[in-house]
Amino acid sequence: MRVTTVFTHFLFFSITMYLAYHPLVAAQQWPEGHKIAISLSYDDALNSQLDNALPALNQRGLKASFYIVPLSDAFKNRIEEWRQLAKQGHELGNHSLFHACLSAKPGREWVQASNALDDKTVQAMVNEITVANTVLTSLDGYSEHTFTPPCFDQMVKDGNYVEAVKEQFVGVKSLEDPNSTALIGPSDMSSAQIINFIEKQPPNIRLINVLFHGVGGDHLVTTTEEHAKFLDYLVANQDKYWVDTYRNIMLAEKSNLK
Ligand SMILES: [Zn+2]
Repeated sequence: MRVTTVFTHFLFFSITMYLAYHPLVAAQQWPEGHKIAISLSYDDALNSQLDNALPALNQRGLKASFYIVPLSDAFKNRIEEWRQLAKQGHELGNHSLFHACLSAKPGREWVQASNALDDKTVQAMVNEITVANTVLTSLDGYSEHTFTPPCFDQMVKDGNYVEAVKEQFVGVKSLEDPNSTALIGPSDMSSAQIINFIEKQPPNIRLINVLFHGVGGDHLVTTTEEHAKFLDYLVANQDKYWVDTYRNIMLAEKSNLK
């Protein structure tokens, strides 16, 4: 969850760009004729998200997805606030129980040996993800959730765990159609840089994931001021962009495909 992680996200996304192509999906539109959906993510269950990101979203009537790690101190110490966040129409998403990532990658010194994906099995991860969904359902009452794989890693020692859990979800970030999806993970970026990324996307892009971590604190930080300016831009451009929870976006995608 350092700067290198963001680079890894981009690298992963660039590679997956070449793995699939679905022109049918790219031709379809979102509700109310919007051509582009924007999913705002806040990963890792951080104090700065409750303190700074959530009020900024609520002031502007924007809905977002918060990918929860139940192991996080900010989760266990502030359960009632996460529950309220879901009641306000935001999404509690699955980010696994313990945030296991591969340790055998550059910049991954922070991965604890007890929590390295390299040493886990597919079945262990299926169990972990299943329990994390139960935690979310006990808080928000929903049976349908979405998943962001921690660090966007997929492989464990005996296979691909994301493939094994994907049927539990209405959507998995990083498994979208790469021909029509873009992703940015801001860290120490200005609102102008994020907006530039969005505006330079080619016409085939119809889903943009903006994946925040800390807002005004914690790690991979976006300042409160730049975050607010970016949200103001989204509000000012609501005719262009459909901003909603990833669950709602993925449910709309599924009804598109019927
Ligand atoms: Zn994470």
